[in-house]
Amino acid sequence: MQKIIIITAPSGAGKTSITRHLLAKFPQLQFSISATTRLPRAAEKDGVDYYFITEDAFKQHIQNHDFLEWEMVYEGKYYGTLTSEMNRMWQQQNIPVLDIDVKGALHVQQEFPQHCLSIFIKAPSIEALQQRLENRGTETPESLQTRLNKASYEMSFASSFDAIIINDDLQRAQQEAADLVAAFINK
Ligand code: 5GP
Repeated sequence: MQKIIIITAPSGAGKTSITRHLLAKFPQLQFSISATTRLPRAAEKDGVDYYFITEDAFKQHIQNHDFLEWEMVYEGKYYGTLTSEMNRMWQQQNIPVLDIDVKGALHVQQEFPQHCLSIFIKAPSIEALQQRLENRGTETPESLQTRLNKASYEMSFASSFDAIIINDDLQRAQQEAADLVAAFINK
């Protein structure tokens, strides 16, 4: 069976650290590289973190039905999972790991209900989330506020996923995620 692992969370809940931990621990997992129209951050590389593409190119992919799912995650910024990425990983007998927003995660889950392990990572509180985003130092005051507003809304979908992990202690959260993935891989 073709399997998919979805890690979703409001931005800043720490899902990237958990995703990295899983990828390092399980060699059969592979990161699904999304396409996005947002600009790369300092340490990010094209074709590694994302495929950084123009809005025109993104819209062309939409027209060509190249996306398994896509969302305008933030005002004017598009993100999407390419079907070709999924197929490539399945052909290599790997399990794609999707680090995507809550709406996108709900779509993928609906499309492949029997194939998914979906994990929702919850920050202990909105204040903790704000602290994390501020420490990360990648946001302007406006984009920080946008992310926090979106996060409160997204928290309300937590129960739609297979498992909820509260990220108040990163090591414990990583272990919980690893236990879920180990059980899913062996299913
Ligand atoms: P960031 O700009 O911080 O890298 O990502 C912003 C949000 O977009 C995160 O919640 C991330 O998980 C989500 N995201 C990344 N790739 C995709 C994608 O392909 N589809 C969807 N729906 N969301 C994505």
